[in-house]
Amino acid sequence: MSRIIMSPSSDVDKKLFTPGPLGCSLSVKEAMLRDLGSRDAEFTDKVKQIRQQLLIIAGVSPDQFTSVLLQGSGTYCVESVLQTTTPRIDGRVLILSNGSYGNRMKKICEVSQIPHDVLPFPEDSVIDLEEVADWLEDHPDTYTTVSVVHCETSSGVINPVDKVGQLVRALQPGAAFFVDAMSSFGAVPIDLELCSVDYLVSSANKCLQGVPGFAFVIARKKHLLGCKGNARSLSLDIMDQYEGLEGNGQFRFTPPTHAVLAFHRALKELQFEGGVEARIKRYQKNCQVLQEGMKRMGFKKLLSDSCKGYIITSYHYPKHPNFTFDEFYRRLSDLGQLIYPGKVTNADCFRIGNIGDLYPSDMEHLLKCIHQVLSAMGVPVPVS
Ligand SMILES: *Cc1c(COP(=O)(O)O)cnc(C)c1O
Repeated sequence: MSRIIMSPSSDVDKKLFTPGPLGCSLSVKEAMLRDLGSRDAEFTDKVKQIRQQLLIIAGVSPDQFTSVLLQGSGTYCVESVLQTTTPRIDGRVLILSNGSYGNRMKKICEVSQIPHDVLPFPEDSVIDLEEVADWLEDHPDTYTTVSVVHCETSSGVINPVDKVGQLVRALQPGAAFFVDAMSSFGAVPIDLELCSVDYLVSSANKCLQGVPGFAFVIARKKHLLGCKGNARSLSLDIMDQYEGLEGNGQFRFTPPTHAVLAFHRALKELQFEGGVEARIKRYQKNCQVLQEGMKRMGFKKLLSDSCKGYIITSYHYPKHPNFTFDEFYRRLSDLGQLIYPGKVTNADCFRIGNIGDLYPSDMEHLLKCIHQVLSAMGVPVPVS
């Protein structure tokens, strides 16, 4: 039988102005053009380097923290932390939620039958610290984990995790503090020690600009080591995964080798760009170009100007009978520009992200495309 050789696809990449999957550089994609064995020293070395690099990016000491990679998308890691940190007896999670990613934690707890309470907040503002303090004071020694989302990608709100962490430490000293920093890690600074973070989760394909395929947990070792046997899942047991990685350096089950190679390259690219500070500057510039251009076209943001997030921006639909999101989306997609529907429940919005392999010139081009599409739809610019 002869080898099948297909000619490379001529499809061009679309620009992804989304909360994920996000665009990656050509060099990151090229890094995947190799096969490596999961037990091969080159592969396990790369995994080791990645684990060390992640701690450096997080600004924490390997004496206190470890990083654990886990197959799957970001949600798999969120679920693995909730599973692994909740003791089978008397475990209880408090979820501070102001958006759909907070609500996803609730769903995880429901499905996994993890005892939990949810403290809900409006989707268009940050978590209210006084309410959190009151709740924690009224429920002493109740929770084994308190969780919060750093950047609520559903709206773009950045929650004050430092202050929440300090409240948790003061008022619920026995609880682990868990931060979903999926869309912020590597681009919105977070001081894990100052914030008293015990677990932080992010994924390969957000601000670190690898390809999708795995996510990772930065865990305080002292806490993680006490979590053996908690998980009601084998594949999502982050403690078991940790022991595997520490033991023979391998993933317990088939690793996403190509995604790991891509991530290894992506971390080199981050360094080459000038580290996290340079990346922050680029994303902030992307955001500034976007927000100024959208404002000129009359679009209104969901969040007030006091919300300084620069990861993703939610915009209200223009009020014009010719505007439908589906047509707007389809026409932009035809021009190679992918935006995203809104994810808040109380307003008709769409979202435009600034993260991934995007540059200010990409934002300028998107703005031109938006103008062109609105004109084609017969929606006058500036919109109202
Ligand atoms: C992207 C994201 C996730 C993970 O979503 P997946 O689709 O599982 O990768 C979780 N939380 C936040 C805040 C996110 O932005």
